[in-house]
Amino acid sequence: QDGEAEKLEKAKITLNDCLACSGCITSAESVLVSQQSHGELSRVLAHNKAAAAQEQKLVVVSVSPQSRASLAARCKLGLLETAQKLTRFLKSVHYVFDTTFSRNFSLLESQREFVRRFHRQAEDKKALPMLASACPGWICYAEKTHGSFIIPHISTTKSPQQVMGSLVKGYFAEQQHLPPDRIYHVTVMPCYDKKLEASRPDFFNQEYQTRDVDCVITTGEVLKLLEQEGVSLPDVDPAPLDTVLGRAEEELSTHPGGGSGGYLEHIFRNAAQELFGIHVGSIHYKPLKNKDFQEVTLERDGVVLLHFALAYGFRNIQNLVQKLKRGKCPYHYVEVMACPSGCLNGGGQIKLEGESSKEELQQLERLYESLRAEIPEENQAVGELYQHWLGGWGSEKVLELLHTEYHAVERANSALSIKW
Ligand code: SF4
Repeated sequence: QDGEAEKLEKAKITLNDCLACSGCITSAESVLVSQQSHGELSRVLAHNKAAAAQEQKLVVVSVSPQSRASLAARCKLGLLETAQKLTRFLKSVHYVFDTTFSRNFSLLESQREFVRRFHRQAEDKKALPMLASACPGWICYAEKTHGSFIIPHISTTKSPQQVMGSLVKGYFAEQQHLPPDRIYHVTVMPCYDKKLEASRPDFFNQEYQTRDVDCVITTGEVLKLLEQEGVSLPDVDPAPLDTVLGRAEEELSTHPGGGSGGYLEHIFRNAAQELFGIHVGSIHYKPLKNKDFQEVTLERDGVVLLHFALAYGFRNIQNLVQKLKRGKCPYHYVEVMACPSGCLNGGGQIKLEGESSKEELQQLERLYESLRAEIPEENQAVGELYQHWLGGWGSEKVLELLHTEYHAVERANSALSIKW
């Protein structure tokens, strides 16, 4: 103020101050994510070549549907072709799965959890609104900035990445007669925040000293792998698709309700039917302040029975949290996602050359929605796993393997809480 220069105190920023918005980790903080990178995958593959058979790891890659759509758009291929060619390219690893499969479990568990919470709302003031749990960017922000106030509202259902972790290190390991630490599980995801999620202590198996997901690479990192190997995906021969249950898969499917997984739509339809006996046909979204904040209502005789919203991007999330804090949040459920426009627009996706981000996103949405939409309840393989592996709906194993918990982060000692 008086024109004098003053040396400022050095600012210290720890990983725990990170809101995981994907903005900086992509460049300056890349050292921190080195344990989970395509370089790490290459290291494990090289180790496998040199190691004795009993020391080799079975390598499994689970690809998210958002990443597949991004690669398909970049390579100007269809989704099925992309999946088949990617499977062939990655065949130096042993199995390539699709996290659309594990998302069935996340959707079913979210549906059931919502109905349970709805019945509990009179005695538990924090049962509703239930807030989505599939986005680690949002979870990270909620734990760090609103801690114990917001945590009881967050669904305990694991994200598709972490359900896939349970399937691969649990069911699949059993089928292969291997302990979980002999499997190296890699996921391909649309954002860097998924690396934070995989690193959570909640997803670490103490007995076998292994994580459910060992390494997360972004869609952009898969492109780097292709470039490093001098491979053009369109020139790769297709390979049959693998499935967790070992059956050959000839087509891909998706879930209706948008590129972030369709949580709102699935929970809404199920709750309308289960709680009020109402069959919902098409769902009408009402945009509020912007296209990333929309709501959906179910009414009967002028009475609102269900009031849901989706809130994407931190601007809308902050609005939502303020509403909650003032006791003025009218919703029963909110699909919360940290990225504006949701997961197809994640920070780890490939930027298309020459396209504006709006055109790019529209192209991705068209591609993503071009697949057959499946209903999780009708997936036979999912039903079989619930019955034979998990011990039925609502069993203790379901709670243990498909649900998780959250932790308020004390900012004073935050530097010790997250390990990479
Ligand atoms: Fe990742 Fe963004 Fe999707 Fe959240 S919304 S899971 S940060 S891509």
